[in-house]
Amino acid sequence: MISKRIVLKFPHRLVDQPIVCNLAKYFDLEFNILKAYIIPKEEGLLILGLSGEEENYNKGINYLKKLGVIVQSLSQGIIRNSTRCTHCGVCITVCPTEALVLDTHTRKVHFYENKCIACELCIPACPLRAMEVHY
Ligand code: SF4
Ligand code: SF4
Repeated sequence: MISKRIVLKFPHRLVDQPIVCNLAKYFDLEFNILKAYIIPKEEGLLILGLSGEEENYNKGINYLKKLGVIVQSLSQGIIRNSTRCTHCGVCITVCPTEALVLDTHTRKVHFYENKCIACELCIPACPLRAMEVHY
């Protein structure tokens, strides 16, 4: 038995497809949708709890990948390099979960790691390359 929390990024063409239901139908997996977002360029982003027998789990993940879904572990580490960050606020506009928030009193941008879903939208958005992925 395996149980993980994962992030799925759907290309626009797959947003309306019953792909997650197919994980239960074809691979006998149990899923729990934790959060869902539509992000820029109308891609879909889903935070999912997924569990089942390990062989079925792996087959289900391969099914998603073959369809063009990007699958990431939720535990993937995003950090902010505080020596580079100038608190310009650009990243706030792309973060779908409000993990990056402007403190209106100090004018500083706070990074709340517990809200981060590792979608990586802030990585290319940051002009200073202060947001980093650590595998
Ligand atoms: S875009 Fe980069 S430099 Fe600007 S506030 Fe966000 S992390 Fe800091
Ligand atoms: S990766 Fe960046 S944009 Fe995505 S949730 Fe985390 S802080 Fe927000």
